[in-house]
Amino acid sequence: MTREDHQPTNRQIERPKREVGELHRVCGSSVGIVLAFDESTTPLIVNFEDPDEEPIVCAPVEDGMSVGDGKPVARPVQMYKGKPAVCWAVDAMRASQMTAVFVVTSPALSTAVSHAVYGTKRKGGGSNVQVVEIDRHALVERTRLGANFEMFGLPFGMLELARGLADSLFEGYDNVVILESDAVRITPGHLYELCLDAMEHPEVEAVPSWIECLRRSPFLFTRDFLHGLEERGIAAVGPNGFDRPVPLVKTRDHVFGDELLAPSPAEHPVASAFLDECTIGALEALRLARAAENGEGDGGESADAVGSPAAIGTDAAGGSMSDADRELVAIAQGILHAREANGDRNADLVWADEFGRRCKLDFPLLNDRWHKGKLAYLDSAATCQRVDVSLQAQRDFDEHANANVYRGGYELSKRATDEFGRARRRIEEFIGSDEQRIAFTANTTGAANLVAQAWGEWNIGEGDLIVIPLAEHHSNMLPFTMLAERKRAEVEFVPYGPDGRLDQQAFSAALERRPKLVCAALVGNVFGIVEPVREMAKAAHEVGARFLVDAAQALSHMKLDVKDLGADWVTMSGHKGYGPFGIGALWIGDEAFDEMDPLGGGGGVVTHVGVGSYRLRPRALQYEMGTPPISQAIAWAAACDYLDGLGMDAVARHDCALTRYLVRGLHMLDGVNVVGDHDRADGQVGLVSFTVRDVLPAELAAFAGRLGVDMRSGGHCALPLHASVGLIGTGRISFGVHTTSDDIDAALVAIEACRRAYER
Ligand code: PLP
Repeated sequence: MTREDHQPTNRQIERPKREVGELHRVCGSSVGIVLAFDESTTPLIVNFEDPDEEPIVCAPVEDGMSVGDGKPVARPVQMYKGKPAVCWAVDAMRASQMTAVFVVTSPALSTAVSHAVYGTKRKGGGSNVQVVEIDRHALVERTRLGANFEMFGLPFGMLELARGLADSLFEGYDNVVILESDAVRITPGHLYELCLDAMEHPEVEAVPSWIECLRRSPFLFTRDFLHGLEERGIAAVGPNGFDRPVPLVKTRDHVFGDELLAPSPAEHPVASAFLDECTIGALEALRLARAAENGEGDGGESADAVGSPAAIGTDAAGGSMSDADRELVAIAQGILHAREANGDRNADLVWADEFGRRCKLDFPLLNDRWHKGKLAYLDSAATCQRVDVSLQAQRDFDEHANANVYRGGYELSKRATDEFGRARRRIEEFIGSDEQRIAFTANTTGAANLVAQAWGEWNIGEGDLIVIPLAEHHSNMLPFTMLAERKRAEVEFVPYGPDGRLDQQAFSAALERRPKLVCAALVGNVFGIVEPVREMAKAAHEVGARFLVDAAQALSHMKLDVKDLGADWVTMSGHKGYGPFGIGALWIGDEAFDEMDPLGGGGGVVTHVGVGSYRLRPRALQYEMGTPPISQAIAWAAACDYLDGLGMDAVARHDCALTRYLVRGLHMLDGVNVVGDHDRADGQVGLVSFTVRDVLPAELAAFAGRLGVDMRSGGHCALPLHASVGLIGTGRISFGVHTTSDDIDAALVAIEACRRAYER
């Protein structure tokens, strides 16, 4: 779609331009816009004839309900802090000295909104607040935007409206605020889109800012507006009870998308000076803190609270320490003390530590001379470290059995074919599959795309529905949104609750629309929560849908039984299960197999080719085009042996003990907000996302990395989810079997040091 397609064509968008122009002359250069289209999803109703009456819960108003013959009638309005949200928004704008405020609303709602804003029943201007009616339905007809913006929960056509307003209003104004009513739920994602357009107006300071209200944050603000609020000591408040000053983000530089979210600590003078001064890392700081406790070296005083400074003059080796080193050790002491006071070292943790310590010996990278004792690797969700037996198996094959499979009559090729076949069988057994049901792919993403093409091309048509949870990894979302685009099908994105669990009611409602396909992850890569996919697959099958499970994050943490999941396809990557890069698998159920057709031909796909005829390789193997990833399969099979040797029950027990230890630790730190409910009893898979006050996720990861703690930051390829909850990204810690409580405490040291540095 070209930019021209986005140009507002509705003459009703033209109207505010003139009015804002007039107000500009009168009022100066600040403009606020409140979008109030509450009739779509509003759960509350207010009787404006008697404003004192308590709001009552009601069903959403039917589309097209008339306003009544001039009389103010009961209208749905979102309430916020005890008053209609629109009033709160206007008051907040006035408090921040917005000089002109527009309330943009639908005709059906404008009487009610005017009343709420002015306290009278009249419509229109006369003050610095102006109510502007926009006919949403007319806009909807004109807009060509659809599925891709609905993924953020935006009612159809709203973005077009916002773009239109931006284009017509921004020019000539230094400071534009757009607030949204709860029901409209314009998220940073939309505003980012809007920003891209607004960039063409250099005088505009863009719109979105980082407001960490989880889910349903009612309002979004510009930087200047937030500065105004902060100066007045007003904090941004989210419905999760979060109440603290909002970290301000320079929206021009740090918008959405991982690359744009990568400011380096070098840009922050205090953080960068601190890191330059550090000669030790976080693990070393922990060791020195312990040594000081035991009276070794010049330990000095102990700290009482997390990170209260201790006088530590020398390191354990007697070398002199910098102030930054001393602060790091003091923070470590504080953490160790707090752990002791909380009784965090229980029997489960002692067992998990012993397990982790033993496993660590199996990972060459964690034991080499650069990393041993210096690196806390906490990004296993992105890629597991390579285990020695897997490396060795690949090397053995490469050195002693390297040949192509299937085709050679000579001994080496026969051996390669046998080893490859055994590796396939081993991987199938590991995931509970029958023979020849997995096709090797490049990775999970390749497996999802294979389904979108080999099944989707033949089975999805115009008007069909695909259902995808909003938290899915882009890999499990884009192949199917692209398929929907190609086929003019529709995608419905299912939202999440503030506890980080899929909204099962919304999921059931989506199934009532009888989708053709449902795609969901067994474990999400942001919340780290195990979803009830078995029940979801059953429900999807009952309405005739096919069901795809993304098992990428489950593979290394739980016993996977693909048949028991009841899905039609299961996708996974070798490198998420301690195997190598370059290999993944698509497990294909029998019924789905019958509905698929190979994507392409070539060697690997066929057992025989005649002139104008061919015979396909059996079952899933017909999806492996060309030479398969032979040594990778052998290495992955060895990693499966390793995990089975440890026992998946033991792996899960280790995950569970350490996840609890991590979550308790994060709760202990000031300014850290864990995303999702990790106090629950089930499904602790060693993956926790969080935010840190005043620090961008990328700043945190870069800072921690300099202290030898490797953790993830950004949108984790789940930008729609982050946008929907008003976050530009999160930090994420994820475990492997080699993780110990020291790795976790080192992460806490790094996070605490980082927050302090950025706060100074
Ligand atoms: N699905 C989930 C849940 C993931 O976490 C990831 C990677 O992080 C993927 C899919 C994509 O995996 P790959 O890059 O190996 O295709």
